[in-house]
Amino acid sequence: MAPPSVIVVGGGAMGSSAACELARRGHPVTVLEQHDMQHARGSSHGSSRIVRLAYADPFYVRLAMTARPDWDELQRHNDVEVFRRTGGVDHGPRELLEPFAAAMDAAGAAYEWLTPGEASRRWPGLRFDEAVLFQPDAGVAHPDNTLAILQRDARAHGAQWHPHTRVDGINQSTDGVSVVAGDRTFTADQVVVTAGVWSHRLAGLPADDAIQVQPAHFVPVDSESPWPTFIHRRTDERGRELPEAYGLPSPDGVKVGFHGGGKLVDPDDRDFAVVDEEVADLRAYVGQWLPGLDPATLEPGTCLYGGLAEDDFIIDRTDRLTVAAGFSGHGFKFVPLVGRMVADLVAGTAQPEPRFTISAHRTTT
Ligand SMILES: Cc1cc2nc3c(=O)[nH]c(=O)nc-3n(C[C@H](O)[C@H](O)[C@H](O)COP(=O)(O)OP(=O)(O)OC[C@H]3O[C@@H](n4cnc5c(N)ncnc54)[C@H](O)[C@@H]3O)c2cc1C
Repeated sequence: MAPPSVIVVGGGAMGSSAACELARRGHPVTVLEQHDMQHARGSSHGSSRIVRLAYADPFYVRLAMTARPDWDELQRHNDVEVFRRTGGVDHGPRELLEPFAAAMDAAGAAYEWLTPGEASRRWPGLRFDEAVLFQPDAGVAHPDNTLAILQRDARAHGAQWHPHTRVDGINQSTDGVSVVAGDRTFTADQVVVTAGVWSHRLAGLPADDAIQVQPAHFVPVDSESPWPTFIHRRTDERGRELPEAYGLPSPDGVKVGFHGGGKLVDPDDRDFAVVDEEVADLRAYVGQWLPGLDPATLEPGTCLYGGLAEDDFIIDRTDRLTVAAGFSGHGFKFVPLVGRMVADLVAGTAQPEPRFTISAHRTTT
């Protein structure tokens, strides 16, 4: 029997990966994307994302370990940079890092404790004052190049891409699905919703918050100096946890941002405005902790997060509708893996991971 035809709603990272994997497996695929094939209005644009194994939950460490070889594989088959192994550090008070080490122990992931002196000698651009947990397999993925490659490969396998096609509604029947976009109706055997923060409107999911965050790029003082990916887990003078700072080398300099914070926005009506207070906080952080960067060179940008980092992803199928959403600020490292998980659900060859089901989210939200 021929593989079922599939409409993919949303051509960001997850939709491009799902479309690519489905098309490779022989499904007729149609992708409907409300904006351009690549655009800066969702969560998947830019030149850098951290690919790390360090999570405080062994489940996500294992998931990241499963996803990690895909990046080497994708890089091996392409000339442009999609992934660069840099190694990664988490640093800060030892008690904040212990849960990450314990989870990596439980999952069998490689890591090493370094002293602040050892870490400073390896990466002179960062200042270390407490414990340092080093993961050699971490690195940096390049979103713009990754999406371009996935979309190119999907189209080479026959996927049809319809940019500037905003889906208004999805109807399922015993015969198939019909997807309405303005005055057009597309039909197929199944539909996949990978619409990022917009997914809940289309797939009947619990409402998701859209949060505009504002990382910035800085120019390194020494262009030859090595940079790992880093997450700085911090406390204030009273021992209360502060928002983590993160950073990573990218073709545009070194990107630095804070986890948490940001402002709630309507994803269809964003102002993309830079918040001066956050700019000042980033500059102050760089001045204090990153001697290898010039704080005066700050170049801010905005991006959209969906959901909370604490929530699990949603990758589930109900009848003819498969959804992959809720990836928040840490989904990119799983992009190739999510494409395979979606394709397995569409084919009916795998059961959804229980933590990623819609019903699991309904009981926790
Ligand atoms: C600043 C920032 C830093 C990040 N850093 C990291 C990191 O270091 N490591 C990491 O692993 N992850 C990171 N992430 C998270 C990661 O980038 C996201 O989880 C991932 O890109 C989400 O992809 P997506 O396809 O689900 O969503 P999106 O990229 O938003 O794609 C959804 C697509 O659906 C389209 N769409 C929506 N509604 C409709 C409709 N009705 N009709 C048609 N199309 C529609 C949208 O236009 C969009 O193109 C970061 C995210 C941000 C914003």
